[in-house]
Amino acid sequence: KTVLITGGSGFVAAHVLNAFLERGYNVRTTVRSEATAENVKKSHSKYLDQLSFAIVKDVALPGGHDEAVKGVDGVIHTASPFVLSVEDNERDLLQPAVRGTTEVLKSIQKHNPNVKRVVITSSFASILDLNKGLRPGHTYTEKDWNPISYEEAAKKDAPGPVAYCASKKLAEKAAFDYVAEHNPNFNITTICPPMVYGPTAHTVSDLSKLNTSAAEIYHLMDGSQKEVPATSFYLWVDVRDVGEAHVRAYENPASAGQRYLCTAGRYTFQQICNVLRKDFPERRHLTPEGNPNEPLPDTYDVDTTKIRTELGIKFRSLEESIHDMAVEFIQIEKQL
Ligand code: NDP
Repeated sequence: KTVLITGGSGFVAAHVLNAFLERGYNVRTTVRSEATAENVKKSHSKYLDQLSFAIVKDVALPGGHDEAVKGVDGVIHTASPFVLSVEDNERDLLQPAVRGTTEVLKSIQKHNPNVKRVVITSSFASILDLNKGLRPGHTYTEKDWNPISYEEAAKKDAPGPVAYCASKKLAEKAAFDYVAEHNPNFNITTICPPMVYGPTAHTVSDLSKLNTSAAEIYHLMDGSQKEVPATSFYLWVDVRDVGEAHVRAYENPASAGQRYLCTAGRYTFQQICNVLRKDFPERRHLTPEGNPNEPLPDTYDVDTTKIRTELGIKFRSLEESIHDMAVEFIQIEKQL
């Protein structure tokens, strides 16, 4: 069996690839250049005989995936920009996210009627209502949708994080709308993780150019943060659990048409600094101390019953995730 995974070079995608490859699937993945394909070969060298590539220069290109979808049995769509500061919200975030998603779906419907299942990497950003702030007492579930509109997010003065969250909400909504309107042969499932941490499995050639969520943690252990920064999203998940959620959703027909909140629960950067300072005493001077006993603030919570019962996901602890992530970063520092 072969699946197409879009955006194979990404932090999250590397673990989605691993989850499928470990189970014996053949994986075709899209990348933007030959050089990126080489990087994915390097990071997944154990599986070269199961791995193939399709070059798609931009995820939002009309018909861009027409060739890539041919001959596969299913599709996992992860490629989407995760950047919190851009020049142009529409050009750099909203369009690649929304058009990227609908173009992938169009290519499947047009060129591969055998595809029955599509899994899409969405985000807690498409669930969270940013206007409600910390919202103590509220428990987010899959029934919640970020209410932001395209017009609000496209405004010149809309902050990058607001536009990013909107890009994920609008892309996920566009995917469900596409299925409702066009009634294709496939159904879709979306996975909604909040901040994703844990060890990198993609090729990192420059620690100053890490993906957004990995960079947040690396900056807590490279001496660049003198104070513990304010936590922005309060929910996290390990990247290996996100990879596993994608393959379990793909294999479970009951997940058709469903979205899954995929999180291990609440956290703060203070807790992460505590783990780093305890587990890596030789680097303690590079991690801010803050107030180690600070309690979790009063914020929204989440209900993860659905993913735990329907997909059987057991979430790793923050301590394990951050420990493994730091070990990987230290290893990369030595190699570069
Ligand atoms: P990365 O930046 O590591 O990966 C993003 C991937 O998308 C890369 O493969 C990138 O390709 C590709 N991509 C971005 N823009 C385009 C484009 N215009 N055309 C083609 N490919 C593009 O980020 P993550 O791994 O963190 O993100 C992957 C997915 O996970 C995204 O959908 C993101 O929204 C989602 N997500 C991530 C979270 C996190 O905390 N990391 C939290 C919740 C959701 P290239 O390498 O060539 O740039």
